[in-house]
Amino acid sequence: MDYFLTEEQLEIKEISRKVAEEKVKPLREKYDEEGIFPWDMVEVFAQTDLFAILVPEEYGGISGKVMDLCIVTEELCRVCAGISMAMGATGLGLYPILLSGSEEQKQKYLPAIADGKRLAAFAITEANAGSDAGAIETTATLDGDHYILNGTKQWITNGGEAEIYTVFAMTDKTKGARGASCFIVEKGTPGFSFGKKENKMGIRASATRELIFEDCRIPKENLIAREGLGFMIAMKTFDKSRPMVAAQAVGIAQGAFEEAIRYSKERSQFGKPISSFQAIQFMLADMATQIEAARSLVYSTARMIDGGNKRFSKESAMCKYYASDMAMKVTTDAVQILGGYGYMKEYPVEKMMRDAKITQIYEGTNQIQRSIVASHLLKD
Ligand SMILES: Cc1cc2nc3c(=O)[nH]c(=O)nc-3n(C[C@H](O)[C@H](O)[C@H](O)COP(=O)(O)OP(=O)(O)OC[C@H]3O[C@@H](n4cnc5c(N)ncnc54)[C@H](O)[C@@H]3O)c2cc1C
Repeated sequence: MDYFLTEEQLEIKEISRKVAEEKVKPLREKYDEEGIFPWDMVEVFAQTDLFAILVPEEYGGISGKVMDLCIVTEELCRVCAGISMAMGATGLGLYPILLSGSEEQKQKYLPAIADGKRLAAFAITEANAGSDAGAIETTATLDGDHYILNGTKQWITNGGEAEIYTVFAMTDKTKGARGASCFIVEKGTPGFSFGKKENKMGIRASATRELIFEDCRIPKENLIAREGLGFMIAMKTFDKSRPMVAAQAVGIAQGAFEEAIRYSKERSQFGKPISSFQAIQFMLADMATQIEAARSLVYSTARMIDGGNKRFSKESAMCKYYASDMAMKVTTDAVQILGGYGYMKEYPVEKMMRDAKITQIYEGTNQIQRSIVASHLLKD
């Protein structure tokens, strides 16, 4: 399929693929097995300007375009979704600042992210507030020139590793979701600590931790926008970040598909390559078609956002759930094509199937995405 990428986008794709193939691939098995956070790869992403793609030029970056980010994300995830998350979660963490922050906040925080010197993280989820993000219990109480944060965030990607956190807390509990606000909290602030690192099914090179706030005082100017706009900031962030989750899914599926087609030509049973069996051929044809369908939806959504369209919640949700359901199916089929070998850790499709699962869950489960799409369909 020809997606008519520009010269610049082709260059971004080529650099990302080179980084993924030459630097990420040799480490992915070990980092997955041992759950190692990829600080050395963070260094490589910084040197090759991949972090700079997260940020527009006026704040020290080179792009900030959703399409460019989708291209990088897809290429990195084609090799290892876990390692790519150091960058992916930084993108999610910086969006509240980029989309709703003040000029001072943008100038203060975004250049260091573009340089890859500081990672970011996004923190809304709590033990009793997952899909129901409006139910968060963390509080932020104004005390003179400071807010005092109390509460615990759960399953925060880049938790403990990132320096900059965009954190959602209630400034007025009586108002429900309209009482939520968003704050920037820096690592090292007294009263801000981390829980244990989670032991996960997939994306194991990505760090997932609790954030604990105990009378954590942050300057008043770390409030993003105004009190009460937290929920709106979170939704604006997700609308823009969900195509990146979809691109992760497309990348994972592409990687698994390439392994499956290669293996099908090498493996012989009944005296011929398994690729000569129609059952395998049809699976390969379906996998390739499903990947292109998802990629088309992701790229169309990314172009729609970059083109300046203001209403893209529906399309963002569509591409997130379609691509992640596709990735789960394609990676499962890839394991099937490799048979028993596909179930063993010596082939990467086993890891890809584990990694694909999270794309159906985070940044809003696929049930929630379907609800978003349906609500738009019924409203329009
Ligand atoms: C590895 C990992 C990394 C994560 N990273 C981050 C992060 O960086 N920052 C962050 O803030 N959060 C993060 N999360 C949290 C993630 O976004 C939530 O897990 C997710 O939103 C779902 O919440 P939950 O797990 O509490 O599930 P629940 O909300 O408890 O849902 C359980 C099930 O019920 C379904 N369900 C719930 N409500 C409805 C409904 N109204 N209609 C239909 N079905 C429904 C869900 O689809 C799901 O199948 C991460 C999670 C994981 C596992």
